Amino acid sequence: MKLRARHAAPATGPVRDALDVRTTELLPGMALRRALPHRDRPFVGPWVFLDHFGPTPDDAPAMDVPPHPHIGLQTVTWVVEGEMLHLDSLGSRQPIRPGQLNWMTAGRGIAHAELAPAGRRHGVQLWVALPEGARDVAPAFEHHAALPRLAHGPVDVIVVAGAHAGHTSPATTHSPLVALDLRPHGAAALPLDPAFEHAVVTLDGVVDVDGHGLAPGTLLYLGTGRSSLAVGGSGHALLIGGAPLGEDMLLWWNFVARTDAEIRAATAAWAERTLAGPVPGHEGPRLEAPPLP
Ligand code: MN
Repeated sequence: MKLRARHAAPATGPVRDALDVRTTELLPGMALRRALPHRDRPFVGPWVFLDHFGPTPDDAPAMDVPPHPHIGLQTVTWVVEGEMLHLDSLGSRQPIRPGQLNWMTAGRGIAHAELAPAGRRHGVQLWVALPEGARDVAPAFEHHAALPRLAHGPVDVIVVAGAHAGHTSPATTHSPLVALDLRPHGAAALPLDPAFEHAVVTLDGVVDVDGHGLAPGTLLYLGTGRSSLAVGGSGHALLIGGAPLGEDMLLWWNFVARTDAEIRAATAAWAERTLAGPVPGHEGPRLEAPPLP
């Protein structure tokens, strides 16, 4: 059986599609909402994966995601509550706290592990697909302890990635994109790039987006062609956007690729321990790939 690539044609103008997000419980009381890839909207610009986890109970057990590989993408870790630790095959060892950004470029291959101590945690992990011209770049890891902050009236904004209203995130990007952390406590209009497609998820509370009361568990897809967006209510949300990829993408396990052969080669290289080196500082076994279809 061949793996099937997915194509996501962007909407040709502004839309407001409220898409239910599949929610699973990792452990009782520990919700995981996988907003992307969504059955009806696999990608938003280059954003191909979005997991919203938590908030967990205060007594949640420690977390250990063992070493596993990535290719063809960048991973983004954005913590709302709690603390996590990133380890990777480049030798990076980086704790991350709320308001900070871990931005890892897998390029042609990297392995990483993520750990968190017992206790409450809440956050988001996303993947950005690298465009054709950058998917084989050297692996890299960036930690940004501080990011640009601004306010549009009563809406506080952190520029996580890309540029917004004259403020630019230091995160290295390979295609036009944006990610904004939004904390409204009243209504305002946010400028947007009309060439991008956009979507919003709420992390906490109920955020009004283009007149839609958005709570956690829904992906609000906004289409293209918007030069501004009405945001209000009281809560915490994440807006993502970017230029449409214009490429069919194939996601399998932790890999983003274009072809079946590329996925099979990466899977074989991980099994043969040639895709990426070991992850220093992580005790215990790594993750093995599931069987290919
Ligand atoms: Mn990972």
